[in-house]
Amino acid sequence: KLSARLQQIADRLPVGCRLADIGSDHALLPVYAVQSGVALYAVAGEVNEGPYEAASRQVAEAGLNIKVHVRKGDGLAVIVKGEVDTITIAGMGGALIASILSAGADKLDGVNRLVLQPNVGEDIVRRWLLDHNWFLLEESILEEDGKIYEIITAVSEPEAAALNELLYQERKLPGGAVLTKELLLMMGPRLTQQPTNVLITKWESELDKLNKIRKSVASSNQEASREKEQQLAGLSHQLKEVL
Ligand code: SAM
Repeated sequence: KLSARLQQIADRLPVGCRLADIGSDHALLPVYAVQSGVALYAVAGEVNEGPYEAASRQVAEAGLNIKVHVRKGDGLAVIVKGEVDTITIAGMGGALIASILSAGADKLDGVNRLVLQPNVGEDIVRRWLLDHNWFLLEESILEEDGKIYEIITAVSEPEAAALNELLYQERKLPGGAVLTKELLLMMGPRLTQQPTNVLITKWESELDKLNKIRKSVASSNQEASREKEQQLAGLSHQLKEVL
């Protein structure tokens, strides 16, 4: 049985997809996707020896060697152009996810869906998708074992630029506060359309962290710190208003 987080990622795969799961670790996701009949075929990519071996073992035990190919390599280097139409990258930082996508840009031809689950730096992933004209189709947020995870699904779509522009348009909230594009990139343009308790919990805790950093910076009298404190104060004020 998959964790709730991996299950939600699996639920975002289109039936009949050809999947590459990059940074697959134990290959739980590709094995499940093929076993459940959702994926026709899957590649499990791993850059590190330990997880690569764990993935190979898992696939062999499941008797899926023909349908799940475990490959060792960095990011999208493990896939051949045109081989897959869906890519999942989960359980790493947003900056790493974005750098994997950028480094493998030539492999994205023919890929029409990305399901991404950054552990931190969700804004970096949203910014990457926006800059590279991937339409942000869906976002979800869940809490498992005391941790909060966001899952971001994007599709290639000819009208992506125009659709994203609408999605990231500055929004005025009923109380008068404004969700700027920067805030939408941080908090999620779709998540903020229907805020759940988990979303509120996440940002209340982020606000707490921010204010602690602010206080520690404020006690320094260096000019650069002062400036940083001003920025953080502005952000914390904005966040408080929109929550
Ligand atoms: N995707 C699984 C999940 O969500 O449960 C495993 C997440 S695990 C925390 C992150 C994995 O990504 C590690 O096994 C690590 O070796 C792998 N990884 C990190 N950088 C990578 C890269 N550039 N290319 C492929 N795999 C990478």
